[in-house]
Amino acid sequence: MLVLNKQFFVDSLLSMAELAEEQRDHWTKLDSDIGDGDHGINLSIGFRAVAKQLETLDFESTDIASLYKKVGMTLLSKVGGASGPLYGSFFMKAGTHLDGEHEVDFKQFTQMIQDGVDAIAFRGKASLGDKTMLDAFLPGLEVLSHSDLENEPLASFEAFVARMKLGSDETIPLICKKGRAVRLGERAIGHRDPGSESAWMLMNVYLEQLRKIV
Ligand SMILES: [Mg+2]
Repeated sequence: MLVLNKQFFVDSLLSMAELAEEQRDHWTKLDSDIGDGDHGINLSIGFRAVAKQLETLDFESTDIASLYKKVGMTLLSKVGGASGPLYGSFFMKAGTHLDGEHEVDFKQFTQMIQDGVDAIAFRGKASLGDKTMLDAFLPGLEVLSHSDLENEPLASFEAFVARMKLGSDETIPLICKKGRAVRLGERAIGHRDPGSESAWMLMNVYLEQLRKIV
């Protein structure tokens, strides 16, 4: 089975930081349409702090659990709004079972994402159809759960990200049932949920890194 080493995770995190800079204005625009307009700024601040932290990382001695815990703590402490705590929880929880591990197989990697999304669901108390990032994550994970992880890791992950992207599209006609945008009621219809957009794009970073090694 495909094995992912620590460098894969560090490269992915650095690439997520680049993405957050590139997409800052786009994510902010989406959040301005139906929220308080801070989504892009928050994530760029958060991932900038993550990238800075990686510069001083003791690579040899850091296992995946502590790497992800550090990232999660940084996002939790540096980022305001809803997205910092949610993505912070994602990374904190994703590494939970990986004490002492310096590489994981592809199945463990998908379990990391599942664990992280469980943490987002627990913290955000949202469900499918509430017009949140879970509308991208949950259908994506459903596709992943029926994929051939052992033999087709890349195709599995491509299908995961594609379904997440579609899930983000599917938030456009919805009204918000979580967060400040609830008060907009039907005025939210016609606007994409910003968290669903950043969610699939961040997972797409893993896909791009996978394509480099598979
Ligand atoms: Mg916001």
